[in-house]
Amino acid sequence: MARLAAKKTQAPPLKGRVRKIIEKLERVHPDAKLDLNFTTPLELLVALILAAQARDDLVNQITPALFVKYRTAEDYAAAPLEQLEKDVRRINFYRNKSRLIKNCCQELVRSFHGEVPSKLEELLTLPGVGRKTGNIVLGNAFGRQAIGVDTHVMRLSQRLGFTRNTNPDKIEFDLIAIVPEKQRVRFCHLLQYHGRRVCFAKKPRCPECTIRNLCPYPDKTK
Ligand code: SF4
Repeated sequence: MARLAAKKTQAPPLKGRVRKIIEKLERVHPDAKLDLNFTTPLELLVALILAAQARDDLVNQITPALFVKYRTAEDYAAAPLEQLEKDVRRINFYRNKSRLIKNCCQELVRSFHGEVPSKLEELLTLPGVGRKTGNIVLGNAFGRQAIGVDTHVMRLSQRLGFTRNTNPDKIEFDLIAIVPEKQRVRFCHLLQYHGRRVCFAKKPRCPECTIRNLCPYPDKTK
């Protein structure tokens, strides 16, 4: 019995390292959050489609007017495509993104009474929505503990030795196995901020990195 109890309390090394990294990153990035502005699941979904390969701050510049003009999925679904293109033309790939938003909202109207569904398998049936977007919507608009593998989460998870995979879907499952369930969304926000502020893709700031002693590459930049 005693042996069993001891086994239960002993965290596997990787899980233990993840916990310590979360703890340390929480101290240096207490302000970590999703940087896209939104107030409803629909607004987040639209913002995420616009944010593909674009800066969040640019998306945040155009969404206030967009969200006032288009309040429901029906509004986007009924809008002439040329008008929607005009309304988001400051963002890259605006033609393609406008079409995705319109198609996605038409599907929301057709299959979900105009509401953004709160199940991943349903979100994945929407045009323009993959696991990353679906999980970010679930995690940030519905309060679910989901892991959305964006570019920072992927890069830092590989660098920190949390995964050997390069496919984001496989990385998501690797992370689910080691990140405490209650901290999955927080974990993503912390990795995103650490990736933006310290652990850059080129020339990471290793000497001043707070998780240096927990990283397999503490001397990536001397
Ligand atoms: S020690 Fe360097 S490579 Fe490791 S997480 Fe910190 S900045 Fe990134």
